[in-house]
Amino acid sequence: MSTAPALTADAIERARQWVAERGRTTPARVRVLAHLLQAGRALTHAELEAGLARAGGLDRVTLYRVLDWLVQQGLAHRIAGEDRVWRFSAVDSGAGGHDHAHFRCDDCGRVYCLDSLRPVVALTLPAGFRCREAELTLHGLCPQCGA
Ligand SMILES: [Zn+2]
Ligand SMILES: [Zn+2]
Repeated sequence: MSTAPALTADAIERARQWVAERGRTTPARVRVLAHLLQAGRALTHAELEAGLARAGGLDRVTLYRVLDWLVQQGLAHRIAGEDRVWRFSAVDSGAGGHDHAHFRCDDCGRVYCLDSLRPVVALTLPAGFRCREAELTLHGLCPQCGA
């Protein structure tokens, strides 16, 4: 597994703004969200822990608590992988939240949010059904593995 690159000032600044709009800015919240924003894909707990370890680390309890808070606030969302591993991804709430599709690379196993791809299943349900959430995951090769 490759180690995460150091956080850029840009990712930290964006994370700080997002957190400040929702609540108290703590260093842990800003760091975790900055990692998600910079990754540009969904990260597992293990990947987040590895990334955070560079800058002194974050204990597991705090990481879980921060992720819960980010999800509650709509700044991140959780994706249940077929491998039963939760992954977390930053959400641009302005761009519409949770109703987008995901892409899982068959080669490297990475999961990406496809923010621009929105399944319309909710609109085509038979009468009487109401959709709360639709999960659509596409499979194939990511740009890195397909190159
Ligand atoms: Zn891949
Ligand atoms: Zn997503």
